[in-house]
Amino acid sequence: MPVPLPTQTTRWRCTLCGNLTRFDVTRSSRTVEYVHLDLTGVPSVEERQVLSDTVESVRCRWCNTADRIELVERPSAGPGTEQV
Ligand SMILES: [Zn+2]
Repeated sequence: MPVPLPTQTTRWRCTLCGNLTRFDVTRSSRTVEYVHLDLTGVPSVEERQVLSDTVESVRCRWCNTADRIELVERPSAGPGTEQV
């Protein structure tokens, strides 16, 4: 079952318990990393290019149900951010 992805104006909501804020997201991604090692051999990733990124499942942290997620509208972002 495909997982709906949130957009600029929507967010995830668990259809069973109503959770809006906490999810375990399993995703598979292919990335190219620019790894820069210092002289002692400690690596750090300085750039990461995402080639593909797929969300495989979304599980609710509250009721532990997987893939019962729907999209709902986000609330307005709060006072002072609305375009008049
Ligand atoms: Zn839930």
